[in-house]
Parts: sequence; structure tokens; C-alpha cells
Amino acid sequence: MIPAAFDYEVADSVEQALELLTAKPDAKLLAGGHSLLPAMKLRFSRPAALIDIARIPGLDTVTDGGDHVAIGALVRHCELERDAIVRAELPLLAYAAGLAGDRQVRHRGTIGGSLAHADPAGDLPAIALTLDAEIVARGPSGERTIAAADFFRGIYTTALAPDELIVQVRVPKTAGAGWSYLKFRRRSIDWAMVGVAAVVRANGSIDEARISLVNMGPKPVRASAVEDALHGGSSDGVAAAAAHAAEGTDPPTDTWASSDFRRHLAPVLTEQAVNEALSRTG
Ligand code: FAD
Repeated sequence: MIPAAFDYEVADSVEQALELLTAKPDAKLLAGGHSLLPAMKLRFSRPAALIDIARIPGLDTVTDGGDHVAIGALVRHCELERDAIVRAELPLLAYAAGLAGDRQVRHRGTIGGSLAHADPAGDLPAIALTLDAEIVARGPSGERTIAAADFFRGIYTTALAPDELIVQVRVPKTAGAGWSYLKFRRRSIDWAMVGVAAVVRANGSIDEARISLVNMGPKPVRASAVEDALHGGSSDGVAAAAAHAAEGTDPPTDTWASSDFRRHLAPVLTEQAVNEALSRTG
């Protein structure tokens, strides 16, 4: 469990981090280190150098952007959990961040690292997808914004170029919407065997339903068949709509669960999550 040898650089600014990334194409950015360092210790990852971005000023703030919340890439899970703006405007994100790993993980892991790592079992990628978040990336040629729906490409793979870094995540506010995140796992510190995130707006009938699934394929997926079936309906139709949850998914078989068990879990959890979200609508 000892990583291969690597150089270590500390970046004091985004510009310096980008210069180092360009100068050292085999380098990796280091934020909270709670995904990268375990991978290096197992020698799944062998970067020639680490560029430590954890102390870059200005990337660790949460600000109210009017219709959205702007979250710096270095904001840690524990800060998402307790930040007043996130709790008020994005309760789903605050809640889900509080379920990631254990206390130590939540005190080191960052939102930028979670999204860039794109673990199909990770909580925050699916939450970003449900909330229609935008990822702001900066590279040598400037800044661009990537919708969460276009960001996750596959297992540990994103739309980020090797010389780009995430600087911010912009998340539209969900005021008035009901929400739920159900994470099925054996122990409270485990990753999701399957997770379901839901945001629902209803006024008599269901006006909008956004549902994403964790660990039902190589990347987080929207349960669009469920969303379509719920639209315009009422709470009476939730069970029938949720039955579509595993459609179009490709869940893995691993030491925690078989693919078939995950296909069974997805509709069960989706029904519960949508009902919980409906119970929280204004
Ligand atoms: P790092 O490990 O520093 O980096 C991860 C990757 O992202 C690296 O490739 C790095 O180069 C890249 N990167 C980091 N920051 C940026 C950036 N700003 N721009 C571009 N690339 C960047 N996560 C969950 O979601 N749910 C869990 O239940 C969970 N359980 C865990 C349990 C344990 C025991 C551990 C060790 C981790 C667990 N995690 C879990 C993962 C944890 O949330 C990680 O901290 C997180 O996924 C990665 O964030 P980080 O800041 O530590 O990133």
C-alpha cells in the first residue's frame, strides 16, 4: 500500500495550477486526496507528480448567485452539510453530502474532487445531475461551463480536458420543490449499492420530477422513463411509474450486490424516494 514515487508541487493560484498542469502532462491535481491517494496506494493510479490545489484562495466559498448557488471546487462535504445557504436553497445537496463516507472523508473530500473523480458509486455526481448543476472548468484557453448531463462520460471519466480544472459548481436553487435521497448500503459508512435522488414539484398534479440513479451503470443516470410517467400524474401513479426505474440501466455485479439485485432495488427505492419528495413539497 505504498504509492509509486511522485513529485509534489503546491499551487498558490488557479493560474499556477494550470501552468503546472501544462508543464507536467503526467501530473494529477490533488484536492482532498480521499479518492486519489487510495488509488495511488493500490497503484491503480501512478501520476508522475501531484499538484496540490487544496490551499488556492477563493475556491472554498459558497455564494448566493440569485437564481443559483455558486460553490467553489474546494468546498468540502462537511461544509456543504452545514452551510446555511446550501441548507436553505439546496437541501438535497446538504443532506447527500452528509451521507458520503465517514466524518474524516467528509472533512477532506471536496465537491470538485468528487465530480472530477466521477465514481459511479459516488453520491455527489448523481446529485449534480438531479439538480441540473453546471460545472465551471478553467483551462489554458479560458473558462467554460459544462452541464452535469454532459459532464459524466463513463466510469471515472468526464468531459474535462487533461489541462482543465474545476473552479466552481453552479446549482439552480430548488426552493419549493420536494426532495429525497435514498442510499441503500449495508453499513452507514459504505458507498451506495444503489442510490436514488429525487426532486419533485407538485401542485395537485406532478409538474416536474427529476430522478437520478447511483451505481446503476458506469455513470449516474436520469431515470427518464420514471420522470415521463410521473409528469402530469398524481401520487396514485408513483408505484407504476417507479416500476420503470431500471429501464435502460446497466448495473454492475460486484462484491456488494449482483446486477439483478440492483435492478430489483432501483424501482423499490425510487417509489420510496418519490413519495418522500412529494411529502416535502410546499
Ligand atoms: P481527490 O482525491 O483529491 O481527487 C480525485 C480526482 O479528482 C483526482 O483525479 C484529482 O486529480 C481530481 N480533481 C480533484 N479536484 C479537482 C478539480 N478541482 N478539478 C479537476 N480535477 C480535480 N464518496 C461518496 O460520494 N460517497 C461515499 O460514500 C464515499 N465513501 C468514501 C469512503 C472512504 C473510506 C473514502 C476514502 C472515500 C469515500 N468517498 C465517498 C470519496 C470521497 O467523497 C472523496 O473525497 C471524493 O470523491 C474525492 O474528492 P477529493 O477532494 O478527495 O478528491
